[in-house]
Amino acid sequence: MDRSSEREMATALVYDDRFLEHDTGLEHPECPERLAAITRGLQDGGLWDALRPLSFEPVDRALLERVHDPTYLKRIERNCAADVGFVDTPESPVCPSSGEVARLAAGGVVAAVDAVLNEEAANAFCAVRPPGHHAERDRSMGFCLLNNVAIAAEHLIADCGLERVAVVDFDVHHGNGTQHIFEDRGDVLYISLHQDPKTLFPGTGYAGESGRCKGLSFTINIPLAPGTDDSGYISAMDDIVLPRLDAFAPQFLLVSAGFDAARGDPLGNMNVTPQGFAAITSRLTDAADRHCHGRLVSMLEGGYNLTALAESAAQHVKTLCKRA
Ligand SMILES: [Zn+2]
Repeated sequence: MDRSSEREMATALVYDDRFLEHDTGLEHPECPERLAAITRGLQDGGLWDALRPLSFEPVDRALLERVHDPTYLKRIERNCAADVGFVDTPESPVCPSSGEVARLAAGGVVAAVDAVLNEEAANAFCAVRPPGHHAERDRSMGFCLLNNVAIAAEHLIADCGLERVAVVDFDVHHGNGTQHIFEDRGDVLYISLHQDPKTLFPGTGYAGESGRCKGLSFTINIPLAPGTDDSGYISAMDDIVLPRLDAFAPQFLLVSAGFDAARGDPLGNMNVTPQGFAAITSRLTDAADRHCHGRLVSMLEGGYNLTALAESAAQHVKTLCKRA
C-alpha cells in the first residue's frame, strides 16, 4: 500500500446501542451513561462523523473458549438467564441480557482488529461495555465479564498468525486478568501503568510481577503513586513503556484504555488531564507507526467521572484520528 491510500483510511469505531442494555443496577459506577457521555464527547468534539462505524457480531464461541474456561462461560449464561443479579461476586453485576452484551462487545473488538489488519481502517476505538481487563480465565472480577483485550490478542496470534502482540493498559487499575491469561507466554507483551496496588483494587501489579516460564519479562508492571499527573505518566511512557515496546517490536498494538486515572475520577486517585491522555496516546500511535504500520486497536476499560471520561476519550480518539 502506498502512503496516499494509507492516509485515506479512517479511524474505525465499535459502538452499538445494545451495549447500554447491560444493566448494573442503581448508582453503579459502571453504568450505561458512561457510553452516552463518550458518544456526546465525540459528537461535541466534531469526531463522530469522521469515524468509520463497524458492523459486528457476538464473538465466536471457539475463540471465546480459548481464553475463558467453558464452565465459567456457562456460569455467566446460567446466572443471566436465572436473573441471579451477579456472576461470582457482587462487584460484577449482571442482568438477563449481560452475557449476550458481553459477547457482542468482544465480537466488536475482534471486528476492529480484523478491519485494521485488513487495512480497512487505520486504527480503531471500541466504545464497549462491560469492560474486560479484570476478567480472569475462569471468573469475573471488577465489573468485567469477558476479557476483551485478551480475546483480541488471542485472535491475532491464533487465528491471524501473528507472533508478537503488545497490550498497553493505562487504566488506573491493574489488569490482573490480562496479566494472568498471558503471563507464561512470550508472544504477548503486557505493559500496565496503574495506581500503586497497595492503595487500590485489585491489589496486584507490583513491579516484581514480571511473568513466568516462557513469559518471563513479558509482563511489565509500572505502579505509580497516588496523585501522579500528566508529567509522571509521560515520564513512565518515555522511560519504560516505549523502550520495552521498541525492544519487543510488536506486529500489532492493543490498548486497554481506561480513563479512571483522570483527575476527578471517583474510583482512582490520579491527576491525568484530557491533554495528558492525548500525550499518552500519541506516544502509542508513534510506537505503532514505528513497528506495525500504525496498527492499533484501543478499547474502553474504566472511567467513572462522566465529564472527565467524555473529555478524555474525545482527546484519545482525536489523537487516533490524526493518524488515520
Ligand atoms: Zn479501572
